[in-house]
Amino acid sequence: MTGKNYVFWFATGSQDLYGDECLANVAKHSKIIVEKMNETGLLPFKLVWKPTLIDSVSIRKLFNEANADDTCAGVITWMHTFSPAKSWILGLQEYRKPLLHLHTQFNEEIPYDTIDMDFMNENQSAHGDREYGHIVSRMGMERKVIVGHWSHENVVKRIASWMRTAIGITESSHIRVLRIADNMRNVAVTEGDKVEAQIKFGWEIDAYPVNEICEYVRDVSQGDIDALVEEYYSKYDIILDGRDEKEFRKHVAVQAGIEIGFERFLKEKNYHAIVTHFGDLGNLQQLPGLAIQRLMEKGYGFGAEGDWKTAAMVRLMKIMTADIKDAKGTSFMEDYTYNLVPGKEGILQAHMLEICPSVADGRIGIRVNPLSMGEREDPARLVFTSKTGSAIATSLIDLGNRFRLIINDVVCKKTEKPMPNLPVATAFWTPMPNLEVGAEAWILAGGAHHTAFSFDLTAEQMGDWAAAMGIEAVYIDKDTNIKNFKNELLWNSVAYR
Ligand code: MN
Repeated sequence: MTGKNYVFWFATGSQDLYGDECLANVAKHSKIIVEKMNETGLLPFKLVWKPTLIDSVSIRKLFNEANADDTCAGVITWMHTFSPAKSWILGLQEYRKPLLHLHTQFNEEIPYDTIDMDFMNENQSAHGDREYGHIVSRMGMERKVIVGHWSHENVVKRIASWMRTAIGITESSHIRVLRIADNMRNVAVTEGDKVEAQIKFGWEIDAYPVNEICEYVRDVSQGDIDALVEEYYSKYDIILDGRDEKEFRKHVAVQAGIEIGFERFLKEKNYHAIVTHFGDLGNLQQLPGLAIQRLMEKGYGFGAEGDWKTAAMVRLMKIMTADIKDAKGTSFMEDYTYNLVPGKEGILQAHMLEICPSVADGRIGIRVNPLSMGEREDPARLVFTSKTGSAIATSLIDLGNRFRLIINDVVCKKTEKPMPNLPVATAFWTPMPNLEVGAEAWILAGGAHHTAFSFDLTAEQMGDWAAAMGIEAVYIDKDTNIKNFKNELLWNSVAYR
């Protein structure tokens, strides 16, 4: 999705105080660490070993090379010995990419029988990493710190997880959102400062008249439409709901034309996310439903009713989760209706149409039904229910003077009974720590009804991304209690103003 073969650099710090033999061992050890971690197959991106850094000249050179190298998505640093941290200041000042401090050491266990002062001098990460950590903290730099032995699976998995965050940080500035409709009239939470969003996140958010994209839809050939309809019919269950087969197929064909036309427009103009609005459809015959669902599945971001913030977030999260083996899906979502029965509390998630099929569990069907809003013909849409399990729902809001990212751990479940009369894709989740506290905290934080949702990312990853963007993030999870949460919002309002 990024078009790049990203790698991460592994840089080891030391100094020339310990003699050549020690430095040779430092290099040998860090090479082994890189080699073994690559061999685990757990890292989504390759680690590239870099020669040991021993002074400010070599440190500055490495960080500037990292800045200039398009394939380098971040640098992982580790102090094998003691590396006086003043020599890191200039390099760190000039460094602009994600930074991870791996606090590890080569040996897992203290070699009780053989340990002497030579060993102590050569293996002093506990010492050197504190000196290095001090200067990064003093400089106020955002970085990730991961502690533990490099051979432990949980450590490698945390590095793997951070790598996806780093890709999100690096790629955020490449996200371009196409607005073919303005924000829905009078709606507050989907509004925002697009200039500030570009300054903070790097997003380019541009508007086009809806009829400019309609021309691309109009120009799609009948042959292309027929071929795509065939693909739909082979891939999805056709649920006629008593409609005439020929008429049904015509409605589906309209969405095929929209999918092809929209994608051509997005590709030609290099956009990665799109917003629509049911009240601003120009010459489109139907609200894009099935078409948008398919585009989301291909990796495009989407926000309804002009919601460019959620569209960009969905794209960002699609990039961060790209190529995950056994991914469970990432989508635009909307809080619709509650189940408030004690012990069965949850929020039914849906939208008019536009939920990404990547979250679907089992077979996907196509239905054609009227929309109760708008003035177009009945749109075709993909219907399914979502997978189950832990996931996150995120909402990026504009508070007038700054952005806040709200991140809620949620648990997706099956609804107690099927909903045969509801012709849209749905998910059903209980927010952590429970519906009562979760929804109260969400509302106190000002979270939207639209969310960017993923089974394949963690709150930690999204919080780290927000920190790198320099914005506030609040977590609603198993530890949330309202008294502390309100204080957190109050204190953050001072810290982030
Ligand atoms: Mn909506």
